Amino acid sequence: MKAIRVHAFGKPEVMELKEMPDPQPDTGHIVVRIHAIGINPVDTYIRSGLYPVKPDLPYTPGMDAAGFVEAVGKGVKNFRPGNRVYVAGTISGSYAEKALCAESQVHHLPDRVSFAQGAGVGVPYGAAYRAIFQRAKAVPGEVVLVHGASGGVGIASVQLARAAGMRVIGTAGTEKGRILVTEHGAHHVFDHNDPDCLEKVRLLTDGKGVDVIIEILANVNLGKDLGILARGGRVVIVGSRGPVEIDPRNAMSRDAAILGMVLFNASECEMNSIHAALGAGLENGALAPVIGRELSLSEAARAHHEIMAPGAYGKIVLIP
Ligand code: NAP
Repeated sequence: MKAIRVHAFGKPEVMELKEMPDPQPDTGHIVVRIHAIGINPVDTYIRSGLYPVKPDLPYTPGMDAAGFVEAVGKGVKNFRPGNRVYVAGTISGSYAEKALCAESQVHHLPDRVSFAQGAGVGVPYGAAYRAIFQRAKAVPGEVVLVHGASGGVGIASVQLARAAGMRVIGTAGTEKGRILVTEHGAHHVFDHNDPDCLEKVRLLTDGKGVDVIIEILANVNLGKDLGILARGGRVVIVGSRGPVEIDPRNAMSRDAAILGMVLFNASECEMNSIHAALGAGLENGALAPVIGRELSLSEAARAHHEIMAPGAYGKIVLIP
């Protein structure tokens, strides 16, 4: 099979398309024939060598994908060859024609969801669900600001919060992105590059503030976020690319909470809960990943450049 291999950490061009032996399933393992691969920012951090957790070299990048089950090992209970699935994590890496997975990393993909969409579920929808429900513990009727709503996690957050009966405010940096965010369920949308963006959000809530902020770029926004939280508000840090200064008094005066979050910290039980909820949402149509761009597997380096550029529009996927 063809697979992307990384022999040394570095710039996107360290990713090379190579011929590799087909994976074989051991006990409890599943081989998935991949039809689409989801690109996530974390794939770029790992490839660069700057992420705290480093794989042994050489390795095949990627966590998310979708396709058909090709083979199952002994003891696999819930899947058989031919099943449509999405994978959230793999043993062998997802930037390939086939991936070896543990059964717990494989989830059924409803017929209404394309493989490209299925490749956009694992990390972004998992993170969005964990941020909204497991960390912020948001409930129907609350006001949720998705601060950075046009990308993978943002669109997922908007769809999840809207489906759960929250009032959803989203932000995006381009007009195209703002239209997308509105189409996917935000009641109101603003431009996060507008210096008055958060004041406009505050006014929209009659000065009360928002209950929950899903923060995609905390190093830019956290200080200002604290000033527009309602009493008892929670800001969940999903993404951050550097340090930021805050005024703790803004949190004190509101009994507010700043909650960190990394999806990989979720327990097995929490992960089961996440994928049970996502499966239900995909099945009933409440959740529909947006695919902004499809590239071929050989264009992995281009995909890594593009995911770090401004002007997000849903997900970038690779097609093997
Ligand atoms: P993505 O698809 O590339 O989207 C990036 C988003 O950031 C876009 O919506 C972009 O909007 C927005 N953005 C740009 N400037 C912003 C600003 N000043 N304020 C607010 N938002 C801004 O990436 P993703 O997959 O959604 O991931 C987003 C971040 O979350 C990344 O840093 C990623 O590493 C992190 N993440 C964390 C976890 C976790 O477990 N904690 C899991 C998944 C992802 P425009 O392009 O429209 O400006």
